[in-house]
Amino acid sequence: MNITLQNDKISVVDNYIGGQRQAATSDRTQNVYNPATGAVTSQVVMSTADDTDQAVAAAKAAFPSWAETPPIHRARAMNRFLALLNENKEKLAQTITDEHGKVFSDACGEVDRAIDVVEFACGIPQLLKGDYTDQASTGIDNWTLRQPLGVVAGITPFNFPVMVPAWMYPVAIACGNTFVLKPSPTDPTPSLLVADLLKQAGLPDGVFNVVQGDKESVDALLVHPDVAAASFVGSTPIANYVYETGAHHGKRVQALGGAKNHLIVMPDADIDKAVDGLIGASYGSAGERCMAISVAVLVGDAADRVIPNLAERARALKIGSGSDDASEMGPIVTDAARNRISKYIETGIAEGAELLVDGRGFEVPGHEAGFFLGATLFDRVAPEMKIYREEIFGPVLSCVRTNDFEEALALVNAHEFANGVSCYTSDGNVAREFGRRVQVGMVGVNVPIPVPMAWHGFGGWKKSLFGDMHAYGEEGVRFYTKQKSIMQRWPDSITKGAEFAMPVSK
Ligand code: NAD
Repeated sequence: MNITLQNDKISVVDNYIGGQRQAATSDRTQNVYNPATGAVTSQVVMSTADDTDQAVAAAKAAFPSWAETPPIHRARAMNRFLALLNENKEKLAQTITDEHGKVFSDACGEVDRAIDVVEFACGIPQLLKGDYTDQASTGIDNWTLRQPLGVVAGITPFNFPVMVPAWMYPVAIACGNTFVLKPSPTDPTPSLLVADLLKQAGLPDGVFNVVQGDKESVDALLVHPDVAAASFVGSTPIANYVYETGAHHGKRVQALGGAKNHLIVMPDADIDKAVDGLIGASYGSAGERCMAISVAVLVGDAADRVIPNLAERARALKIGSGSDDASEMGPIVTDAARNRISKYIETGIAEGAELLVDGRGFEVPGHEAGFFLGATLFDRVAPEMKIYREEIFGPVLSCVRTNDFEEALALVNAHEFANGVSCYTSDGNVAREFGRRVQVGMVGVNVPIPVPMAWHGFGGWKKSLFGDMHAYGEEGVRFYTKQKSIMQRWPDSITKGAEFAMPVSK
């Protein structure tokens, strides 16, 4: 592949440690592309273990006084950050579009979802309130409080460079922890914009740090004795690795993995709305969302009513640069990802699925070097096919036909991924049964992408999440704090002398 440089002098995306930009000690770098043009726009440093240790040291040094800062003051810093995020929403969104490729309106939505979590974190004094039992025993009170863990790390994927880190650091920091973010090297620039806004918000140096890089910096974080916990979001094999490695080194870990999200269309569903839902959720962000719908489960005669519409809409999708307001879908994030997705399309054909719309070879006039791929639609996909079993993470929708609801539900429940799922129906009883019996973490009824709000928490089941707690919401507060129980009594009651029997309430 020919690489064109956007500028003669290429900028370097470096680290952010102890409140300032810092060059990495390694001279290893990785190109950052604008996927719509195929041009290299900058280079990101690949930090060494030493660079990573410096970030952890800065976070460790900042921890004692940040943890002692009253929660209301930490909340005020979050409030100032919230205002700055709102002021800089478009700048952040444009950076996302430039490095990830998604359309600008979608990038704005991503920033909005990040802002939701910051708003949630502004309520931290209320969220950290403990429980209190007066007179647990005569003259004794018992209460619980939640205290921060220390230095916590976040390792994030390319597909939401602003939103996914924001599932982590606002809650972690508001709880009194200090943070080291290891963003995806594919679209690293938003991490530095966020660091700058947090500094402007008055966050003390060292509370939020960024280490750019790959496996080397991730491994350094996972084995570091001063890192208390790690939050990871990315593909399932790496989530599994991060979970095992972090746990082996005594860390608390939540590791969110890949997905294969189904949308069931019942024969009684509003078919137009179901098609709208499928088109937006399958091809929005070029299918590079962990909550994207990649399987349509069409029940009974819904198939013959949905598929012709789907094919027509997929062919007519407006695909172009994410910066063009007319585009509904942007490019794929990298040329390598586009090749990987194209291979899956070849595999689907070889496996006997019926290719109705083929996105391969798609070109956007004026953007011939961009990493574009058209929307792709398969019918008659079977559960044993690789294109059904594996996460493709691109604009490829597979249709599976089933006879009835029970068959559709069994199909969903047999899949190893269980991130999100949806059912379109007009039957309240089907909706209720679906919600109760489906073995998936995030469920939509007539909602195609049921991403929970900031105060509900985000997380899948099975191979889509390793660990016990979901991201953000109250689960996030629990993840980033440890509970302490204190029992206290005052001198009057200690005149009785030592007690050797198990203390019971008296
Ligand atoms: P990825 O797993 O390749 O990378 C995620 C992070 O892990 C990055 O920071 C990367 O640098 C690091 N990493 C990569 N290889 C590593 C290795 N061998 N050892 C240690 N660290 C490594 O994921 P991606 O391609 O950036 O993102 C897409 C994936 O993320 C998809 O599978 C998608 O479903 C998933 N995802 C899941 C959720 C969720 O909430 N479950 C959300 C967003 C994305």
